[in-house]
Amino acid sequence: MAQFELAALPYAPEALNPAISAETLSFHHGKHLQTYVNNLNNLVEGTPFAGKSIEEIVTEAPEGGILNNAGQILNHNLYFAQFKGYSEENSIPEGKFREAVERDFGSEEGFIKEFSAKAVGLFGSGWAWLSLSPEGKLVITQEGNAGNPLRKGLKPLLTFDVWEHAYYIDFRNRRADHIASLWKIIDWKVVQDRMS
Ligand code: MN
Repeated sequence: MAQFELAALPYAPEALNPAISAETLSFHHGKHLQTYVNNLNNLVEGTPFAGKSIEEIVTEAPEGGILNNAGQILNHNLYFAQFKGYSEENSIPEGKFREAVERDFGSEEGFIKEFSAKAVGLFGSGWAWLSLSPEGKLVITQEGNAGNPLRKGLKPLLTFDVWEHAYYIDFRNRRADHIASLWKIIDWKVVQDRMS
């Protein structure tokens, strides 16, 4: 039996439209992520990483194919699990996550502006991240390719995929428009739960 399997989506394929269409999901989840899963299953066989979790591999593996494919699986699992049905009214609810955002960024608007700028401005393929530092502070970082903040001792809470495969079907080259639409599908409860 394969060590790793494709994680199922927790919503209907059309639920995220128009931020992410069912067609994009069919490629992004059904083809791109499936390929990373297949690759990693083949690569770990007979290595010290056989039997280890995705988080362990991402934390411990040296640079190379195993790390790249494991990183992409972990990143996409966090990415796809953080969404819910599209809603024009989707602000951060009261709670410890909202309190942390207001403490570290001044306001929800300030956070969204800074995170969006990091996602739009990331050169090439990669991921924008919101993480929790060991001191309990929220930090925004950019990671190229398959990078994950776990490698830097941070706890990942929220991520935007800015590889072109994430938005080219729906938004063509308009990355900024895609980023703006993603705020309408964030499941803030999932993000807050990742703090603990
Ligand atoms: Mn992707």
